[in-house]
Amino acid sequence: MPWNGLGNGYEFMALALAIAIQIVLSFAVAYAAARHRGLSKRSRIGWSIAGALLGFGCGLAILAIYPRCIRAKCARCQKLRRVELATCDHCGNGWESPPNEGIEIVDVNTTNSQLKCTSA
Ligand SMILES: [Zn+2]
Repeated sequence: MPWNGLGNGYEFMALALAIAIQIVLSFAVAYAAARHRGLSKRSRIGWSIAGALLGFGCGLAILAIYPRCIRAKCARCQKLRRVELATCDHCGNGWESPPNEGIEIVDVNTTNSQLKCTSA
């Protein structure tokens, strides 16, 4: 296999294999970092492509740019869910209202007038 840049075909194949492995690993690291930070599917794919093109630094950039997701256990499926979302990403369960303790203050007049304003 005549290729003048390297000594023989095996060296070329080794270099091509090393580059391919680096691209695949950089893609996977960027995708995992984006998933860990809770980014959307579109953002994950975009960051993963950037990771494949630019290297491992993209994974570190994702971890540095985006804040860590705070998660709490879901009451229905017992898996960890993101607290800023209204529904669970696994089962779609909403948040349960806290139990009444008998000390809640509810202004009925304000609530009724607000209902009139919104319905009018
Ligand atoms: Zn759930």
